Amino acid sequence: MFCPDCKKPMIILEYNHIEVDFCTQCKGCWLDEGEMEQILRGRHAALDLVDWTGGRKGARRCPRCADKMRVLHLPDGGPEIDVCPASCGIWFDQGELRAAVRAHAPENEAADIVQTLTEMFGTREEPKEE
Ligand SMILES: [Zn+2]
Ligand SMILES: [Zn+2]
Repeated sequence: MFCPDCKKPMIILEYNHIEVDFCTQCKGCWLDEGEMEQILRGRHAALDLVDWTGGRKGARRCPRCADKMRVLHLPDGGPEIDVCPASCGIWFDQGELRAAVRAHAPENEAADIVQTLTEMFGTREEPKEE
């Protein structure tokens, strides 16, 4: 899969059995539909954090289906993210996934999750062929 920003092939990192597509160039990452909720540890499982067809039209295309993505803010101080209107998944620019964790993961777990993600994105890049 190719980075929707740099168009370079992404690598796959694994976080708790979740496959995270990561761009080593811009440090952005892609999560398939439902994976963000898993990373946020299910606190909002019953809550729809993402309004897939809301927000405004963005310039980037979904790396899965090539539809133009939509740009919207996660609620409660969450970051601005790009989402596929066909619900393929979510694109996070560098730092945005961690901002989402800070806004939406359980308070007592957010720091741990952020640290793990930082290590994963920063120092433990073990590329796997897609
Ligand atoms: Zn990139
Ligand atoms: Zn899509």
